[in-house]
Amino acid sequence: MTENLTTARTGAIAQVGVAARIVKCPTCSKSAVYSESNPFRPFCSRNCQTGDLAAWATDEYRVPGQTMTSVDEELTGLED
Ligand SMILES: [Zn+2]
Repeated sequence: MTENLTTARTGAIAQVGVAARIVKCPTCSKSAVYSESNPFRPFCSRNCQTGDLAAWATDEYRVPGQTMTSVDEELTGLED
């Protein structure tokens, strides 16, 4: 019984994962498409991606950047 529920929920999550999701760009806080069509995800653009990496190098962006990534991964893992 529990197994069936888990399978159904995983299937629903998988479908959502295929569709484009909108996340907040860690760099500029604009909406960014989180899907395979956006190679810069979770950033909105290449500029934001590289800009964030530069910030990482100076260690001033650790908490916001890591939070965005971790939350997304945790959500996926919990539903697995
Ligand atoms: Zn951005």
